[in-house]
Amino acid sequence: MMKEMQKIDAQKDYRDERMQIINVGAFMGSDAYLLITKEKAALIDSGFSFCAQQMIENIEKELDGRNLDYVLLTHSHYDHASGSPYCKVHFPGVKTVAGAYAGKIFAKPSALAVMAEMNDSVAKDYGVDRYEDRLNELSVDQTVGEGDVIDLGSVTLEVIEAPGHTKCSIAFYIPEEKMLISCETMGVYAGEDLVAPCFLVGYEMSLRFIKRAQTMDIEKILVPHYGVMIAGQCKAFLKNALDCNESLYGLIVGDAREGKTVEEIIAHYQSVFYNAETKKIQPLQAFELNAKYLVPMVLKEAREKQQLPSEDL
Ligand SMILES: [Zn+2]
Repeated sequence: MMKEMQKIDAQKDYRDERMQIINVGAFMGSDAYLLITKEKAALIDSGFSFCAQQMIENIEKELDGRNLDYVLLTHSHYDHASGSPYCKVHFPGVKTVAGAYAGKIFAKPSALAVMAEMNDSVAKDYGVDRYEDRLNELSVDQTVGEGDVIDLGSVTLEVIEAPGHTKCSIAFYIPEEKMLISCETMGVYAGEDLVAPCFLVGYEMSLRFIKRAQTMDIEKILVPHYGVMIAGQCKAFLKNALDCNESLYGLIVGDAREGKTVEEIIAHYQSVFYNAETKKIQPLQAFELNAKYLVPMVLKEAREKQQLPSEDL
C-alpha cells in the first residue's frame, strides 16, 4: 500500500542574520537540514537513497549556484546517511564528515546490505520501485571527535561525541547561536508528550548526553526528524527525553523481573512508545529491528548494574 506523501513542515526551519536552517529532505523520515551562512553551506544528515535526487534539487534551489561545502552525518543509519554519496556526485569537493565509527560501518558489506534492504522497503512504501543505488559509494572524508570544530564563517560547529543511539553518534554546538544540533541519542520527538527512546548501544551513555545538554547554555535545538525548537520548547524537550528514556528502561527491567520474554517486552515497549507520530518517521520494520537490539542491550546493562539477576532470561 502506498503511503500518503507527508510534506515537511517549513515552520520548523530557522533563520536569523548569521545563518539559516532549512529542511531540504524530500519526505518525512528522510529529513536533511541545510545550514547556510554567507560564507559556507553544510547539510546535516542526508535522508534515504530513493528520494536523494529530489533532496539534491531542493539543495540546489536554496544554494542558488553556490556549492555545498560539507555533509555532516550525525550517525551512520540508513535514513541519515544514504543521501550523502549523491551529494558527492552533484557538489564537487563536498566533504562528508562523521564520527570515527561511521567509516567502519560503511566499510562493512553486512551493514550496507541492511541499509539497502531498509531503503528498498521505505521506497516500496512510497510507491517507488526503481532508483539509483549509491550505497557502495558511502564514505567519510573527515572523521571528527569531541572538541573538533567545523568553521562555517559566521558560525562554528563544535563537535560533541554523543554515543548511545549508535557508537558513531555525534552532535554539534554552535556557541554564536547557543544552538545544539542534536542527534537521536536523546530519542526521537513524537509529539508533545513523547520522545521515542532509541538508545541502541547504551542506556547510561544516552542519559549522559541528555543530562549534559541540560547543563549547557542552549536556546535552540535542531531536533532530528523535527526541526528547530526554540526557548522553552528546548527545556521541555530535554526533560521529556530524560523522562521517556528512564521510563522505557524501567518498563524493560520491570517486565524482565516479572519473567516476561524478550518478545513480550518488545510488544509492551511497542504499545507504549510506538505511536502514530513515531510511525510517520520510523517504519515498523525499523522500529522492530531497533527493538531487537535495544531490549537485549538494556537487559545486559541492567544485569551488569545488578538490577537484574545474572541468570535472568
Ligand atoms: Zn538512527
